[in-house]
Amino acid sequence: MDTPQIPNLNDIFAYVDEHAQTFLARLIDYLRRPSISAYGEGIGEVAEYIAGVMRQMGLTVRIIPTSGWPMVFGEYNVQPGATTVLLYGHYDVQPPDPLEAWTSPPFEPTIRDGRLYARGVGDNKGQHFAQLMALETLLACRGTLPCNVKVLLEGEEEVGSPHMPEFISAHRDELQADLVIVSDGPVHENGQSTISLGVRGVLDVELRARGAKRDLHSGHWGGIVPNPLWTLVHLLASMKNERGDITIDGFYDNVQPLTELERQALAKLPIDVDEVKRTLDLQHLDEPQERDYFERLAGWPTLTINGIHGGYGGPGSKTVLPHEAVAKCDIRLVEAQTSEEILAKVKAHVQSHAPEVSVTSYGGMDPSKTPLDSPYTEPLRQAINAAQGTAPLLVPAKGASLPNYVFTKTLGIPAFGVPYANPDEANHAPNENMEVARFFIGIKTGAAMLSYLGARS
Ligand SMILES: [Zn+2]
Repeated sequence: MDTPQIPNLNDIFAYVDEHAQTFLARLIDYLRRPSISAYGEGIGEVAEYIAGVMRQMGLTVRIIPTSGWPMVFGEYNVQPGATTVLLYGHYDVQPPDPLEAWTSPPFEPTIRDGRLYARGVGDNKGQHFAQLMALETLLACRGTLPCNVKVLLEGEEEVGSPHMPEFISAHRDELQADLVIVSDGPVHENGQSTISLGVRGVLDVELRARGAKRDLHSGHWGGIVPNPLWTLVHLLASMKNERGDITIDGFYDNVQPLTELERQALAKLPIDVDEVKRTLDLQHLDEPQERDYFERLAGWPTLTINGIHGGYGGPGSKTVLPHEAVAKCDIRLVEAQTSEEILAKVKAHVQSHAPEVSVTSYGGMDPSKTPLDSPYTEPLRQAINAAQGTAPLLVPAKGASLPNYVFTKTLGIPAFGVPYANPDEANHAPNENMEVARFFIGIKTGAAMLSYLGARS
């Protein structure tokens, strides 16, 4: 590889500044159009609309049906063999309810105090629209793109991406790229930009214990009939100890320890643990207490009891011996655990500790991690620095879950999260917003990333 040239982007950044108001007006037009995947409102129209925007820019675009809402896929090829970047986003949005909590209506985009308020502005229309305007800017200034680009916009992200895994498998060849960039979610809590390289996976597990066929009098039947709530309490206690270790047999077998590089990056992430404790009115963090804050999120799996139900929980007392008890749990997974492997281990554990308890799973998502020393990390870091004037923080893995494994595992390419939204974007909530300046910075960053990636090939 030749020494990469440092791209001169002055004309690009000037173009974005000159056209800022037009870009903003076009984003507002996009945001006026509801595309609510939960019940399908506007989905087909918005897929057509954004496909039209991409076509007008010169991309080859297809709307590809799935057994749910369609995918919008566009490409612009400059030259075979050049670096190929896949940009992923989603054109669907969350339902806007509760409507009365919005200061201005969710589909009437409004600017107040430098922020644009509208459902989907941060999550995710404002972010992938910034990527598209970056392509338009590069095409306007240079007549071509610095690398091959593919754009994939999903219509079901807000309902859990149920068709992404099969879609990615089925279109593996068309989607093949050297890397994928996902601009979704917020920057770091302190406002600094980030590159995130991983996400935890998640597995839902429901444990159901049955006793007698109906609720019974605890005096007449207590001591005779087993109590399913106790069965669950003992079972759950056998799955995690007081020190915070998950004690399901073989649970940690495939956990990949954090690398030295990852530890160094995690140590650089700003956090005020005392402030977190104050804000949440906590006496201490979860066990083990000595573990570092970001290491907990990036490097460790969890077992969370989301709820445990059975018997009577109303006012006063009721001396009942319940006939059934249910515990809902989620397990956050880290590289290289898989949801399939962990579900099998949970089932084996339940089989040996409480075989009468049934285990049901509503599904899982594998974790994903791109190595910090990927050859694309440095050009992306430099590009963000060039566009924003400060270098981004590197986040080896985030605590929450996204289906990024479809890129890193199914497609086998590195995945980089480069979010543009402000930390208080209020996504999924009333008054969702994006700082207008962040939208413009997003366009510049998108153009810079493609330019730096193009320069290294
Ligand atoms: Zn969302």
